[in-house]
Formats: sequence, C-alpha cells, structure tokens
Amino acid sequence: MTAVYLSLGSNIGDRKDYLSRALQALDNLQQTQVCQVSSFYETAAWGKTDQDDFLNVCCRIETDLKPQELLSYCQKIEKELNRVRHEHWGPRTIDIDILLYGQQTINDDNLKVPHPYMTERAFVLVPLLEIASQLTLPSGELLREKLALLETADVIKL
Ligand code: AMP
Repeated sequence: MTAVYLSLGSNIGDRKDYLSRALQALDNLQQTQVCQVSSFYETAAWGKTDQDDFLNVCCRIETDLKPQELLSYCQKIEKELNRVRHEHWGPRTIDIDILLYGQQTINDDNLKVPHPYMTERAFVLVPLLEIASQLTLPSGELLREKLALLETADVIKL
C-alpha cells in the first residue's frame, strides 16, 4: 500500500455533499481506503473572482492502485458527480488532484506529481498539513516551510 495525498475542491451547489460523496467514492475504490480526512476549509475563489467560494478538503488514502489507475478513477468520480445535476457543459462541482503519491516523482504528460501548484496554494497546504504536519516533498523539503511563505488568512476552517 502506498500513502497518497489528495486535494478535493467544490464551489457549486451543495459543496459539502459533493465533497462527502467524492470521499465515499474514493473509499469504495478497489484496493483503496480513505484513512485520514482534514477539516473542510472555505476559500474565496482567486484568479476568477466572479465565482462562489470554494470548499476544500485533503485526505490521505492508502492504495495499491498505480498512479495512472488512480488518476483515471479520480476523473471517473469527477465525471459521475458532475453528471448528477449538470447535464451539459458547465462549471464543475468537484475537482480531485493527486498531490503526493508516496515519495514518487511522476512526470507523465497527463500526470505531474508532486502536483505542480500545490506549494503555491494555501487552500491546499493548510488542510494537507492539518493531517500530516511533518510531510515532505520527494526533494526532502518540509511542506510547512512552504506554507510559511503563503498568506493563509483567507483559508477559513469550518
Ligand atoms: P484540473 O482542471 O485542475 O482538474 O486539471 C485536470 C488535468 O490535469 C487532467 O488533464 C490531468 O491529466 C492533469 N493532471 C496533471 N497532474 C495531475 C495531478 N497530479 N492530479 C490531477 N490531475 C493532474
């Protein structure tokens, strides 16, 4: 089993319900267990500010799925949940990112691990460090040292 950290976000509809259903779907995957889940955090959407606030959560799963298999399943869960209330193209209800897969570095065309933007996003690092305060990147750098460089005031624990 490999310890994998995921970040989940939602900013449409019943955000808590989407996040909970995604966590349940991850736990239902073969050879996979959701072992730790952070608190839910609310964050103002940045970049595109005409959107509703995001709800974010991080979790640790233990899995025997290979990285590409896990990515496919995460995308399948995203599609299934998006299909529930939004039949056509539209804003997404759930986003699942693979942050860390053990201490592996992956540079496939469709999968970059560690997730390239994770160290720039307080809404990722705050929940992540809540469940794994000593976590490091494959380079050995401590993630809490990365978080110390970011503004965290707008990441509100629910
Ligand atoms: P997004 O719109 O943020 O959900 O990005 C989805 C795209 O990012 C997909 O095409 C994935 O193949 C790609 N991707 C690359 N690295 C990762 C990762 N670590 N976790 C999830 N998606 C990834």
